[in-house]
Amino acid sequence: MDGHSWLYVVGDANGRALLTHQGKYQARLVGDALAGVEVDAAWADHTATPRVVFTDPQVASVGLTEAQARDAGIEVVTVRHDVGATAGGALLGTGTSGTAQLVIDTRARTIVGATFVGPGVGEMLHAATIAIVSEVTVDRLWHAVPPFPTISEVWLRLLEAFRDTER
Ligand SMILES: Cc1cc2nc3c(=O)[nH]c(=O)nc-3n(C[C@H](O)[C@H](O)[C@H](O)COP(=O)(O)OP(=O)(O)OC[C@H]3O[C@@H](n4cnc5c(N)ncnc54)[C@H](O)[C@@H]3O)c2cc1C
Repeated sequence: MDGHSWLYVVGDANGRALLTHQGKYQARLVGDALAGVEVDAAWADHTATPRVVFTDPQVASVGLTEAQARDAGIEVVTVRHDVGATAGGALLGTGTSGTAQLVIDTRARTIVGATFVGPGVGEMLHAATIAIVSEVTVDRLWHAVPPFPTISEVWLRLLEAFRDTER
């Protein structure tokens, strides 16, 4: 969308984020723009591009890495917890282990990046994408209750780990 207001480049050809879902996202927004639908100008594809490596275990991440956040001048802390060390992990049994990690902007108190490693964790990523795009504070996230017994309870452990960094 840069350069010429009449020229739209969607998908890999614009070099923004070479992923199918990002091209589809851009196509939806360009379609809205062409149809005269008012579009939120704050595109998310530079701040919250979700990516999943479909290996076993999967590696799923969204937003900034800790290094990218620091390079951008954001003060962050990084917290981690094993996705297997949850009630949902115990239910699924051995082989569920993997790291969940949040990169948290300590001034805004929002998540700027998230990574999950483990079997099927690609399905867990969207919660992090919503938190990043919506700029939900970690204080508010305490009220997003993960069901028992699921691996999503790792969110509680991560919030506890962040609270520990503030003590
Ligand atoms: C091996 C591999 C695995 C991938 N896995 C994933 C994944 O798991 N998840 C994910 O999100 N993304 C994945 N990607 C990336 C994803 O495929 C691309 O980001 C996506 O296809 C881009 O869509 P596009 O429409 O922009 O381009 P394309 O899908 O490349 O479509 C462009 C089309 O334009 C046609 N074309 C080119 N030149 C011309 C011309 N001159 N005239 C007419 N037609 C032309 C091409 O033939 C092609 O059909 C993967 C890519 C590769 C290579």
